[in-house]
Amino acid sequence: MRRAETNLPSVSQNDLQAMAYTDQLTGLGNRYRLRDKIRSLAAERASDPAPFTIALANLDGFKPINDLFGTAAGDEILCQVAHRLKACIPDGAIVTRHDGDEFAIILPLVFERVGAERLGQMIKDVLSAPYDLGDRNVRLSASIGFAIYPFAGSEFDELMKSAETALYRSKRRGRGQITVYSKEIAQEMRRATQLEQALRNAIIADAVDVYFQPIVRIDDGRVLGFEALARWIDPDLGFVSPAVFVPLAEERGFIDLLSEALLRKAAEATMAWPRDLFLSFNLSSAQLMDPRTALNILAILNAVGFDPRRLELEITETAVMTSADTAQRIIGELRAAGIGISLDDFGTGQSSLGRLRDFAFDKVKIDRAFVSAITTDRTSEQIIKAIISMCDGLNLAVVAEGIETAAEADKLRVLGCGMGQGYYYGKPVDAAATLRYLQQNHHEFALVERATA
Ligand code: C2E
Ligand code: MG
Ligand code: MG
Repeated sequence: MRRAETNLPSVSQNDLQAMAYTDQLTGLGNRYRLRDKIRSLAAERASDPAPFTIALANLDGFKPINDLFGTAAGDEILCQVAHRLKACIPDGAIVTRHDGDEFAIILPLVFERVGAERLGQMIKDVLSAPYDLGDRNVRLSASIGFAIYPFAGSEFDELMKSAETALYRSKRRGRGQITVYSKEIAQEMRRATQLEQALRNAIIADAVDVYFQPIVRIDDGRVLGFEALARWIDPDLGFVSPAVFVPLAEERGFIDLLSEALLRKAAEATMAWPRDLFLSFNLSSAQLMDPRTALNILAILNAVGFDPRRLELEITETAVMTSADTAQRIIGELRAAGIGISLDDFGTGQSSLGRLRDFAFDKVKIDRAFVSAITTDRTSEQIIKAIISMCDGLNLAVVAEGIETAAEADKLRVLGCGMGQGYYYGKPVDAAATLRYLQQNHHEFALVERATA
């Protein structure tokens, strides 16, 4: 009381207290207001053990907006978000801004998961309508995490931690997701974090390996190149599939580290092969959103002394879809350097023929799902036939993936499919085994050996 009077005589104690609890930018309550409200609500509910819920909403891609359009535009968006949230939440609920672009909502009358999810969907819709910045409109999505008292924590800190875990899971699952905290989710997150740590260590220790699987000319079975496939065996976790650890590295933001290590290894191994063989390497979708990708790849090839014209990069349709402009630019840069681009897993994603026209591909890889059904299912056969004839017309090379039997290979040959890959021709094996295979089977190998001796 005395301090307020002596230092700031014109401001009342009440004003000061209000200021300490208010976010100056949006006029919403701040973190202290949030903590107090939750504590008092928890105290009320101690005698009447009804649950209540807290939500954390975080804007996706807010930082780039700030960087691109300036902090004034960022502030304007935050004010509009505050306004929208206040307008849409149920009676008795309270919104606070908690940190940067993160908002908290206390929901005294939301008691269980389904109610939380329904509300989350509504909040998400409200926040994804365009933001008017005067000279332009901006669209953003929001990720949301919920924690329900007392299951997710009976103390403020614990409850917030649970809400943050839920939000983090939403964030890492991509944009605009909703998660309600549960013990299972906490465990899933812990497992993913363990896996992440093990994978990061494996990358540093150079323990993630590259295997190679032959891609052959179907007519005569001649090997034309190899696809590099990542392999990781952890001492504790055992074999972990790349279909698990590649997406994890993407989500946790270190796919560039992993991919660079793999490309370097793959390119180094390829240097020992006859020069007419190509290397096919999978690029992840996150890499097609990162403008540095082309430069990084070319730097690695340069360091290894690998001719970019021997490299083909496999990308999927989802990858080109998520960030089409950036992807197109990256693909343009790579192709300008002589690198070929293959469309992987064709036919399974949200295939759009427009994509084949808009993006300059060199090769299409027909997904295994069609190939494995080709001898038994007429529809799959017709689809493959159509893909092959379309690619002929568009001047695109075709590879059928996942060929396992001679019957499948025969059928594909009759249909005019140029290239094939699958266990029938060879399983993925490590660099040493690949080299042995080439020494035994490749007609030009003797020449290379003499040249390098
Ligand atoms: P993908 O690029 O479509 O690779 C083909 C997958 O099919 C590989 O699985 C390969 O081992 C498997 N395969 C090949 N022939 C046959 C066959 O005849 N029968 C069956 N059942 N399977 C066959 P893998 O190695 O487990 O890789 C799974 C996926 O993980 C790959 O699918 C690719 O999307 C991703 N991946 C693997 N290595 C890398 C990498 O270095 N970087 C990136 N970004 N992704 C990778
Ligand atoms: Mg592939
Ligand atoms: Mg594939």
